[in-house]
Amino acid sequence: SAELRIRNLEKRFGATNLRPAVDDVSFTIAPGEIVVLLGPSGCGKTTTLRSVAGLEKPTGGTIDIGGERVADPVNKRFVLPQHRNLGMVFQSYAVWPHMTVEQNVAYPLRHRRIGKEQTKRKVDEAIEIVGLGAYRERPVVALSGGQMQRVALARSLVYRPRILLLDEPLSNLDAKLRLRLRDDLRTIIKDAGVTALYVTHDQSEAVVIADRIGVMKDGKLLQLDDAITLYNSPADVFVANFTGAGTLLAGRVERVAHGMALVQLDDVPYSVRTRVPDDTAPGDRVLVSVRPENVHLETERREDGEMAGIVKSLQYEGTQTAYRIMVGDKEVHCTELGTRPRFAPGDTLFVWIPPEVCWAFHAR
Ligand code: ADP
Ligand code: MG
Repeated sequence: SAELRIRNLEKRFGATNLRPAVDDVSFTIAPGEIVVLLGPSGCGKTTTLRSVAGLEKPTGGTIDIGGERVADPVNKRFVLPQHRNLGMVFQSYAVWPHMTVEQNVAYPLRHRRIGKEQTKRKVDEAIEIVGLGAYRERPVVALSGGQMQRVALARSLVYRPRILLLDEPLSNLDAKLRLRLRDDLRTIIKDAGVTALYVTHDQSEAVVIADRIGVMKDGKLLQLDDAITLYNSPADVFVANFTGAGTLLAGRVERVAHGMALVQLDDVPYSVRTRVPDDTAPGDRVLVSVRPENVHLETERREDGEMAGIVKSLQYEGTQTAYRIMVGDKEVHCTELGTRPRFAPGDTLFVWIPPEVCWAFHAR
């Protein structure tokens, strides 16, 4: 498994006055690490992955795989896909339906000079890793979608690629299979020990599979961090919204020290103690991002202040309840753990946000 290093990657399709599909993207994946690119449709995930594969020629920047420069348009360097030694798994199952699992997995080894015994050993190992040991002799048509995708995975792992590239590999599966394979994928990739670049628009998939997640928007990489950092310290409003639910409350900074500020909210007589960007000053306008699990609902006033609210609606979800609470004119989202809802629509209550759990952005 190799390091992947991307610097200032740019890909333009056609006219230079159009926004590039990939716009000045830089990141490095350590050997054996799994990085997931996450973002809405059209943000440039596939184009980034295809550039690594050599299926697109970048118009700017460089790509290094295991220290070897494989793309550098300025210096006219471009290594063909078949010479990059990468594994690829796509949305559609690129398998031969009438061959057996074993034959499919062995296929990429046919044109490599590898002895029969060694081929068998490699094939067996790849089939074991994806958990299809019992299906070795079956024709692939007899398998479920999830199993076919495991075959595709085994086939891309069998020649020990330097990097594994996966483009929305679960999106053609039904919901149940998708969850099962999602949970297994990380284990499979880690067992294989291969460096992986994985692309998806599904936030929960990214969190389960990734060591680090890169959030993309309009061709740009906005933030690349582990899931916990992304969720708790998003770099901007887009990342905050894309990595989880929440409410944005507008306000004005009263005091600030050591990255923490007291923010007076606009619509209600309430101040939140929140983390803020380093360049925040008193008087600044900010948006405070509040995750629903950080909104506490209380039946009585608190000494340290609270906001009066009224339950607009609720959704019971079995192990938790999601509430929409009206605080003045503002709708605040809240989730509360428990198998029984504590409140009903129309109930009045008090909303409290504990200090220092929120994160604020500069309002523009
Ligand atoms: P994602 O995988 O995040 O959905 P893509 O990388 O497929 O996004 O696409 C990024 C942008 O590049 C989109 O605006 C898309 O329309 C454009 N694009 C992708 N492939 C081509 C192509 N072959 N020719 C022209 N435009 C393309
Ligand atoms: Mg795509």
